[in-house]
Amino acid sequence: MYLIAVDDGHGKGTPGKRTPLFADGTYMEENAYNKAAAQILEGLLKSHGFGVIMVSPEEEDTPLETRVKRANEAGADLYVSIHANAYGSGWNDANGVESWVYDKADQRTMEMAKAIHEAVAAALGRKDRGLKKSADLYVLRRTAMPAVLVEGGFMTNPEEAELLRSQAYRQKTAEGICRGICACFGIPYVSGQKKEEEEEEVVRYQKIEDLPYGKEIMKKLVEEGVINGDENGNLNLTEDMVRIFMILDRKELL
Ligand SMILES: [Zn+2]
Repeated sequence: MYLIAVDDGHGKGTPGKRTPLFADGTYMEENAYNKAAAQILEGLLKSHGFGVIMVSPEEEDTPLETRVKRANEAGADLYVSIHANAYGSGWNDANGVESWVYDKADQRTMEMAKAIHEAVAAALGRKDRGLKKSADLYVLRRTAMPAVLVEGGFMTNPEEAELLRSQAYRQKTAEGICRGICACFGIPYVSGQKKEEEEEEVVRYQKIEDLPYGKEIMKKLVEEGVINGDENGNLNLTEDMVRIFMILDRKELL
């Protein structure tokens, strides 16, 4: 099983890491976006068969050394750090999605970082600022496995700040990262919508003895000819159908 280390960037209340004030006087901390996306990503990765280590589950700012140590000691196969960008501290036009990789990264790391960046940029549909190289980002420099840092948009851009505080954009961020990670490891990505459809699939019961309840009543209804199976005697009943027959029978409507 591949193990993915997920890093939510900063802590709650980390100084300076927040949007300027919105019109209503409130602001969003960068960690609110990072953490929400990280938690959604954790669920998505697990549903795709990955192991996940959350390297900064604390509310306070987990030291970068601790984050990296946890990933290294767990022997993670990939490290993903989720952030929101900022340009200065007031509102301005800087915008778009960019990702970072260590400037001395090997070929494999470059390929993974590229796959993840491209998937996130596509999922978010904002300006693609590209995959950039950094010599000094600690979580990229000190991790013993391929590492990528994703900046999902600018907190200092009014439009992107609104997106960053929306659940939909956080979901898209996690989906994009998960899609990219799946591509890195050759695992088919299954979209959330498709997963929901699978979960909604209803069980059908063919024989009286297979029913979870209502066997006596259903047996009686079959004998009375109220319910007819197909030529093989298969009833093709769902639990909801059984429940409705039971109610109708109780009310003597059958
Ligand atoms: Zn950050």
